[in-house]
Amino acid sequence: MCRTDLHIADGELPRLARPAIPGHEVVGEVIERGARSERFSIGQHVGVPWLGWTCGDCDYCRSGRENLCDSARFTGYHIDGGYAEFALADSRYCFALPEGYAPAEAAPLLCSGLIGYRALAAAGDARTLGIYGFGAAAHIVAQVARFQGRRLFAFTRPGDAEAQRFALSLGAEWAGGSDAAPPEPLDAAILYAPVGALVPAALRAVGKGGTVVCAGIHMSDIPAFPYAILWGERRVVSVANLTRRDGEEFLALAPRVPVRTSVETFPLERANEALARLREGRIGGAAVLIVQEPRATPR
Ligand SMILES: [Zn+2]
Ligand SMILES: [Zn+2]
Repeated sequence: MCRTDLHIADGELPRLARPAIPGHEVVGEVIERGARSERFSIGQHVGVPWLGWTCGDCDYCRSGRENLCDSARFTGYHIDGGYAEFALADSRYCFALPEGYAPAEAAPLLCSGLIGYRALAAAGDARTLGIYGFGAAAHIVAQVARFQGRRLFAFTRPGDAEAQRFALSLGAEWAGGSDAAPPEPLDAAILYAPVGALVPAALRAVGKGGTVVCAGIHMSDIPAFPYAILWGERRVVSVANLTRRDGEEFLALAPRVPVRTSVETFPLERANEALARLREGRIGGAAVLIVQEPRATPR
């Protein structure tokens, strides 16, 4: 489960003509293949990510930026996703899974992990890194950032001692509320929380030349702020979707770190309850829906 599922359920993304089956961090077993689909074998476990299809022909697709393709179709939004017993996916956009991960542990790698990784790359070579919103993406990216030798500073909801302890356990050297100033100016900050008011807060937390990366697909409005906190060559950038290359890179890196995911599992029947807990920030790590083994495969 991903916060994007909530944005879709809450109507915060453009409405679709028909209801959508959410779920874009899907781990499933291949039970049948299309006539020209030979990339994966029957019985293999594969990952289905958010990027479900691109045109391959536009300027974005042709310049290595398929994440920006205007015609892109996304899993769990334009294409029915993983909150289901069965799903159909274009194998060209699926991923082989790294060794050593149980299906439930691998699922969060497929969006929280790889879009989190794209956001980390957008932070450049920042040595001191702030993370706002310590949920599913942050708990994975924190491990990668530490592996890369970066120093980590975690910002949580003010007073959320549990999330702050969680961040410290993952290698953050400081954790505090999003209303607090870090002990030193940071090189970059990544916003995983969909809260526009955090943009000026993060701009105040980074030093000159610092980058603020907005990693979510939706954010509440950013309040007006004085130019002085942007001046000094500070930058605000957003990260959109993923490319297949992001996925291949991150899934090769994850077992080397090794990234360990902390998951809370729910049966598919309790999806709404799990979404409510996600909305309230009451999930430690990542929420994963477990779909019961179906009795028969559809023919
Ligand atoms: Zn997602
Ligand atoms: Zn395209």
